[in-house]
Amino acid sequence: MKNGRRQLVLVAGGAGFVGSHLCDSLLADGAHVICIDNLKTGRKLNLRHLEREPLFDLIEADIIDPVPARVLRQSKSQIDFVYNLACPASPPHYQADPEHTMMTSVLGSRNLLRLCEDTGARFLLASTSEVYGDPEVHPQRESYWGNVNSIGPRACYDEGKRAAEALTFDFERAGRASVRVARIFNTYGPRMAADDGRVVSNVVTQAIAGEDITVYGDGSQTRSFCYVDDLVTGLKALMRHDGPLKGPVNLGNPNELRVSDLVELVLAMTGSSSAVVRRPLPVDDPRRRRPDITIARELLGWAPVTSLEKGLESTIAWFSDEHDRSKARPANRAAFALAEDARV
Ligand code: NAD
Ligand code: UDP
Repeated sequence: MKNGRRQLVLVAGGAGFVGSHLCDSLLADGAHVICIDNLKTGRKLNLRHLEREPLFDLIEADIIDPVPARVLRQSKSQIDFVYNLACPASPPHYQADPEHTMMTSVLGSRNLLRLCEDTGARFLLASTSEVYGDPEVHPQRESYWGNVNSIGPRACYDEGKRAAEALTFDFERAGRASVRVARIFNTYGPRMAADDGRVVSNVVTQAIAGEDITVYGDGSQTRSFCYVDDLVTGLKALMRHDGPLKGPVNLGNPNELRVSDLVELVLAMTGSSSAVVRRPLPVDDPRRRRPDITIARELLGWAPVTSLEKGLESTIAWFSDEHDRSKARPANRAAFALAEDARV
């Protein structure tokens, strides 16, 4: 509640992996949540449990297009917060239509920033550790400007988010909107799509199915994995922080490990006998990544609390259920999944 009124929150990208957890958490706090999503990488299935929730609306729309009239009508002068999570996050997905990815970050953020300017809502951009590129400074602090290949296959995402950050802070500098920028590091958990292409979803689904586990390169590259519940807590804390905040804030788990170590852990936890196979390292794949979360700790009092083992436990359990459900489905799995999605 804000001044005795229920908070109205817009979540762009709310049908996706992180967005659907954020919607759940905001609803649990008592907010009215409007989700805008084009369902490109998100799924109605992620929101099926909210079907009869009176305080939740799903609007199928692309943030590149003007904000839908229905949102404008509902939000005029009383919208409190706009979370912009809309953007494919997995390399194969964001590279599939690079022009759309870039425009999603730039035009989409502009549309939502203008909505905030008009309504007085606070804006939060879900930016990424990818703005640091293949970092030469380790761990990565917010003050580091990054090492991004601006013309490579990852640039549509990295440079799109960098441009979105620039635009966001331009709105703030001009006094047009109150803004927050979260630089999110690799996050995992239930509701990642099995075909998402990211390392945790790939390795867990492969291990459960007894398929070969794909390691790109020699597996010595590092990442720092954050459980989704911790990230959602951090996003809300950042959005709600009213004190002075100059610049972006890293949100991630500083527990860094090699991709090969992640694979070993998943194999041990699943008891899988999958073989490990090597695949070429994608172009511009960052060699290492680890957040410095001093600002989040000191300003927001936030730090992740979920260990990798605990987070993987619930992720593995969720993918195991998905695997069992898909085995119980008719032969044409894809068609069945589509039909199931359409029912929501
Ligand atoms: P996701 O692909 O599961 O979710 C993205 C959602 O945005 C999907 O529901 C998709 O359909 C929707 N979307 C994409 N383009 C859109 C558009 N133009 N208009 C409307 N909806 C659109 O990805 P995620 O992992 O949940 O990531 C959410 C956000 O967090 C993204 O902005 C991503 O860049 C950022 N992020 C995520 C991670 C991570 O590890 N999960 C890391 C860094 C940054
Ligand atoms: N990766 C891998 N096998 C896979 C998928 C990814 O070895 O099946 C590697 C990938 O090359 C990268 C790391 O795992 O070095 C993390 O990849 P992800 O796509 O999850 O995230 P990002 O590269 O965006 O950090």
